[in-house]
Amino acid sequence: MEILNFKPELCAACATVDCLMKCQYIDIDLEHAREESLRISRGEDSEVLRKCVTCYACEEYCPFGNHPFYRIVDLQEQLDLLPAPRPLAESQVRMMAPRGTISKKPVSFPLVDLCAFPMLKGGIRGSLFSGVSVIDGMDIFCNLMFLHFARSSVIRERLPQITKSISSCYLEEDATREVICYHDECYGTYTSWAPAYGVDVPFRPVHLFQYLHERLLHLKDKIKPLNLTVAYQRPCSARLIPEMEHYVDDIFSLIGVKRAERRYDRGSALCCGGVMEAQQRFELAAENQEKNIADMKQCGATHAVFNCPFCFYTLMGKTMKEGITPVLMVDLCHMALGE
Ligand code: SF4
Ligand code: SF4
Repeated sequence: MEILNFKPELCAACATVDCLMKCQYIDIDLEHAREESLRISRGEDSEVLRKCVTCYACEEYCPFGNHPFYRIVDLQEQLDLLPAPRPLAESQVRMMAPRGTISKKPVSFPLVDLCAFPMLKGGIRGSLFSGVSVIDGMDIFCNLMFLHFARSSVIRERLPQITKSISSCYLEEDATREVICYHDECYGTYTSWAPAYGVDVPFRPVHLFQYLHERLLHLKDKIKPLNLTVAYQRPCSARLIPEMEHYVDDIFSLIGVKRAERRYDRGSALCCGGVMEAQQRFELAAENQEKNIADMKQCGATHAVFNCPFCFYTLMGKTMKEGITPVLMVDLCHMALGE
């Protein structure tokens, strides 16, 4: 069984307890935060385990990379303190299971992994993606969403088979092969969650934004600056891979887009509310969505830019109602290329 690389001694010596002090959903003073973090590090019950909305942000807040969020999820599961109703969690586990129907298929490279989102295939087109192959389906679904359901065990159980399937069916087991992760969460799985639990990833994951940035540089002469002010909706999985964040600014700068100075962006990004709805925290979800969209509006954004399909589907109607056009990052790049 894969074990989380969590070091209690780091928490014992931690002066600032940033993981909890910066949490936007748990209001706590430093002394109390210290007590709760020690409970968590000892593997004991803590009010944090009950109040956590699974926004992933403390993974980013911990300055020592001690994986507080992964620890919280492991404990929620061990102590049976589920953030979502049990029947819902159980149905998701069944519904999102690998189908066992994957088989070898010849592919060309670059190879784009669409995870469980075949409905987004339409975005893989034009000069940005010329010559790529696309793979998708439940047998290569990263399963990281189970962090929202206190089901780390499902990820631990399924991930080795998923990476093995990708490697053996598409990559001829060549560990130097690159897989472009369309879904931010896949990249987070392979470069954050997997190493935290000591799970080997037998290929080289590439974040979609890295790929887009490189292609846009290559196609620079074709770009017509969009001259738009956009609000970026940072997904929860971005908290696992903050080293990718600069690509948002780099891409916006290449395509002539201004990233609105929002209150709820970067380290203070707000959850889209979709997960809170799934957890049946409806009031909190509505309150968050209201704050988030009002923030987009007040900073003069004409477009809301998404990378996570789940955030996009959760907020698209609400942004449109306020006269803000929702758009996926990929489509924003197509627009700049006139395609
Ligand atoms: S998880 Fe990180 S920030 Fe939180 S108490 Fe431990 S070392 Fe400090
Ligand atoms: S995951 Fe989010 S809500 Fe939960 S403790 Fe960490 S920062 Fe707070």
